[in-house]
Amino acid sequence: MSIESSATAGATSSVPLRAESLRGLCGGAVQLPGDPGYDEARMPWNVAVDQRPAAVAYPANADEVGEVVRAAAAAGLRVAPQGTGHNAGPLGDLSDAVLLRTSAMTGVEVDAERRVARVGAGVLWLDVVEAAATHGLAVLHGSSPDVGVVGYSLGGGVGWYARQLGMATNSVVGVDLVLGDGTRLRADADTNPDVFWAVRGGGGSFGIVTSMELRLFDIASAYAGMLLWDQMHAEKVLRTWADWAVDAPDCVTTSFRMLNLPPMPELPEFLRGRQLVVIDGAVLAEDDRAQEVLADLRALQPEMDTFARVPAASLVRLHMDPEGPTPGVSASTLLAGLPEPAIESFLALTGRGSGSTLLAAELRQLGGALGRPAEGAGALPMLDGRFILFGVAIAATPELAARGHADATALVDALAPYSSGRDYLNFAETKVDVSASYRAETWRRLTGVRSAVDPAGVLKANHEVPRLYENGLPTS
Ligand SMILES: Cc1cc2nc3c(=O)[nH]c(=O)nc-3n(C[C@H](O)[C@H](O)[C@H](O)COP(=O)(O)OP(=O)(O)OC[C@H]3O[C@@H](n4cnc5c(N)ncnc54)[C@H](O)[C@@H]3O)c2cc1C
Repeated sequence: MSIESSATAGATSSVPLRAESLRGLCGGAVQLPGDPGYDEARMPWNVAVDQRPAAVAYPANADEVGEVVRAAAAAGLRVAPQGTGHNAGPLGDLSDAVLLRTSAMTGVEVDAERRVARVGAGVLWLDVVEAAATHGLAVLHGSSPDVGVVGYSLGGGVGWYARQLGMATNSVVGVDLVLGDGTRLRADADTNPDVFWAVRGGGGSFGIVTSMELRLFDIASAYAGMLLWDQMHAEKVLRTWADWAVDAPDCVTTSFRMLNLPPMPELPEFLRGRQLVVIDGAVLAEDDRAQEVLADLRALQPEMDTFARVPAASLVRLHMDPEGPTPGVSASTLLAGLPEPAIESFLALTGRGSGSTLLAAELRQLGGALGRPAEGAGALPMLDGRFILFGVAIAATPELAARGHADATALVDALAPYSSGRDYLNFAETKVDVSASYRAETWRRLTGVRSAVDPAGVLKANHEVPRLYENGLPTS
């Protein structure tokens, strides 16, 4: 029976009444609207997103995940797995869905010999970065310590080692899942290879990941840091970086940002209330070689230069991303290149005198290993583009959210002529056409896998892969 027909079967009772059937599951860790803990439980990391699910469940293990999924489906409700809620925006209306928070599924095991880390569904990057570092090893984490390992890795994962080692998703070596019918499934290169292919870059539409295994790399330190200028130098710095970024060797991965920082006392003095240009990143090379690679950027005489040999674990905080609940609005796309008119538009919309409300207008350097299909890759073998464009504003009030959203969208619209035509879904924080992020044959295969593993359409994902449709109707 599909979720539509079970919902119809249960349509005589209201959603709140049906959601009552979940009460008592997960040892009582279920919150329903009106419960004293509901408002805290429904809050995502991006607190600008007002999610109001039919229930919030906190399973502690795969058995409890199965119980929640079966109870929800029987009640005609869908299930939306969520780690942190960094990408809560695109989930949309959750009034007929159970929000399945994975934060109680913790645990990091490092097998230094096999070079594999096994993490629970609720593990954050900081935890696995630190556990791996005690063995002189590193994972393909991103720029934020409190992003969830699983959500990040299902969607792609572009971090400081990405141009050398590719996306995190292609470093996944296995997952344990609970499917939309509550059954469990192992997926790796030898077991259920179709599902293993789909989850690596296809997102959370195929099953609820209860644990994930990731490859570890022999990286104990890197030559990393940031270069910082006042925004009056933005034009010169951006032109140089944009040229340099395209031909730079694979061993370096950087980001360019225009930062408009509020005069907040929490910020260090060198950042507080300033309009800055920052290039940060990491080089996986010996010091001499790293200095050679960065020479053109350093020749621009930054006001501050912190590049030096540092422990690999420190890279998880290099970007100074906000930690803890934060209200944000953003827009993004993948750019095929940064020709002169694109640079001019970027500067006009984000630089001094632009009146931009964006906290950051960021360009992440792609290419290198990200621009070539990874060996044995999943559904996202590479990223079609030379740069990720990302504009983000703090949405502390509805007015600031509206202005920030308008400025971020205007930036992406202005650079649309230079887009590769694809989005990078981890950075897409609103609803987008998910199919446009994949090649046509990949999309067809993804919808086929979804149809096979979740024929009733129980699972709800931020960037959902639908089931196969024929003649406008689901085939299930
Ligand atoms: C401050 C900040 C910094 C970031 N830095 C980077 C970066 O450096 N590089 C990069 O590539 N991305 C980055 N991102 C984007 C980030 O990768 C996405 O927001 C990602 O979706 C976050 O995963 P999460 O689990 O924390 O978020 P969530 O919102 O909890 O999850 C996102 C989606 O993942 C799926 N999902 C999560 N857990 C499970 C599960 N157990 N089973 C099945 N599906 C699941 C669901 O579909 C869910 O809707 C950043 C985002 C922010 C806000």
